[in-house]
Amino acid sequence: MKNMPKLLSLFLASTLCVPVLAESPLDFRFPIDCSYTEAGYPVPLCGKPLTKYAVVQKQAGNHKTYPEHFIAGSEAIEADEMRITTIGSGNPPVRLGQASTSWLVELGNGDNFIFDIGGGTVPALWSLGVPLSTLDKVFVTHLHLDHFGGIFNLWDSMGWGRNTPLHVWGSSGHTPELGVAAFVENIEKSAAWHILSKTGIAAREGMQIKAHEFDYAKFTPEQPKQLVYAENDVYIYAFPVDHILQGAVGYRLEWNGLSMAFTGDSEPTTHEAEMAKGVDVFIHELFIDAPTFSEKNAMPIEVAKNIVHKHTSPEELGEIFSIAEPVLGVGTHFFTNEDTIDGAFAGLSKTYSGPVAIAQDLMVINVTKEQIVTRMARTDLLSWSEPAPESDDKPTYDPKPSEGVTLKWISETRIERSYN
Ligand SMILES: [Zn+2]
Ligand SMILES: [Zn+2]
Repeated sequence: MKNMPKLLSLFLASTLCVPVLAESPLDFRFPIDCSYTEAGYPVPLCGKPLTKYAVVQKQAGNHKTYPEHFIAGSEAIEADEMRITTIGSGNPPVRLGQASTSWLVELGNGDNFIFDIGGGTVPALWSLGVPLSTLDKVFVTHLHLDHFGGIFNLWDSMGWGRNTPLHVWGSSGHTPELGVAAFVENIEKSAAWHILSKTGIAAREGMQIKAHEFDYAKFTPEQPKQLVYAENDVYIYAFPVDHILQGAVGYRLEWNGLSMAFTGDSEPTTHEAEMAKGVDVFIHELFIDAPTFSEKNAMPIEVAKNIVHKHTSPEELGEIFSIAEPVLGVGTHFFTNEDTIDGAFAGLSKTYSGPVAIAQDLMVINVTKEQIVTRMARTDLLSWSEPAPESDDKPTYDPKPSEGVTLKWISETRIERSYN
């Protein structure tokens, strides 16, 4: 919040067409003026959300108005509001303008939740002005690396003011080594050098990851979902989705009469649609067709078909939304290029006529009882850390390691220190 006056003045300058200060670190990767596709959608990364439903009214009441862009760090969340931000909307090939999969859900009660933490996503998460110490709850849909590959970066940020462990929720797999607990254990094992080197420097608690694994075998037709988180009036349910192996799940979060669902990757099923029935925002994957996927990724068509046929086409997503009837349906995990989005919206419209959007990185959705408003964020490319909230937690610093440290003959050549 310490930068608020500067950020606000920059925002006002941008809306009034006053030249923005050259030293501004705000992300102006997109121009102020958009051009539009043939079907009338803003071209990707031009600063407008990919939707014709930027405002969806739910009921009469206080229809709050928002600035055109969400300026990171300058807009407090209201006490009764849910804010959903796309941290990553893409695929395994992490693109500069489209990281892999991750979503941030902030609630007006101060709770924050991360759903998936794919490769390339943490810089965007960091840029939103949210204290990293409050980003300690990650819910993983499945263990494909485009949904979990950013965990090292998030974990590494713990040296910045976090005195508490990172908590990761996820499912068991078909065998113990295929579950989220084994994945976390192996991450810790692989980072043995990192952990030992930081012992005595960073707080012990902040270097821990704790897995909360729920039992996939307990999902049955009689028990199609499990309550996996219930604190502070926030309820998160997990339910199985159809994605290659056992252990892939979707989540539904409910709080204060507001709700969202996120299903990670999946082939379309009526089950996931039923589990997301009636939510405010239903975030579901969306995939381009095999010939385009093959051509754009220089991949043999047979391989492209193998991949694409494990995912959901626009027409299939429309069918899912028709069953789930969300207030806003969001397609994600899509290659958002100027020449792909019109086809996706056309496919969706064949089977669904409700409000839809296609996610881009740093799309922001404000959800209240009265409305759902979708915008794009402008963020600080060179952001600093926000201070952590006051806490009674006292960090523990273990003694620094005495064995395995730098060779004595090298440390004896250290140049005399002259900085603070
Ligand atoms: Zn996957
Ligand atoms: Zn994926």
